[in-house]
Amino acid sequence: MALREIRKQGDPILNKECKPVKEMTPRIRELIEDMFETMYEGNGCGLAAPQVGILKQITVIDVEDGNQYVLINPEILEESGSQTGEEGCLSVPGYSGVVTRAQHVKVRALDENMEPFELEGEDLLARCILHECDHLHGHLFTEKVEGELHTAGEEEEEA
Ligand code: ZN
Repeated sequence: MALREIRKQGDPILNKECKPVKEMTPRIRELIEDMFETMYEGNGCGLAAPQVGILKQITVIDVEDGNQYVLINPEILEESGSQTGEEGCLSVPGYSGVVTRAQHVKVRALDENMEPFELEGEDLLARCILHECDHLHGHLFTEKVEGELHTAGEEEEEA
């Protein structure tokens, strides 16, 4: 495993559409392992492949609910309710802002064995799924911030 360089806001790769993954390969398995390591090193709760410079539809998520989620080619099936709260991003280090997202989401994706599954999440998990899916379509949370970005507290989660 190895740490990968996290691309920062302003890098054009973060505004590009990612391609679906067609098959699992040793290289992609290694990428997924590296993404987890890079996310944990940055104290993040999620990371998307374009954040490490790879334009593929892969995200990893760990919101400390005891699971390590790998979402390949994720597709949001349902969104309901609403939550408004602080959000940050490993590609926008040191800053956070208030973003309103769905309170509950249901997503369909492939896991690291390319097996389809559905995942439902609320609160932070829902926020994280939506944030990571945005990355796969070239969008950053800064586009959705209500009011001003501000300096993040030490304890805030970044994704
Ligand atoms: Zn992010």
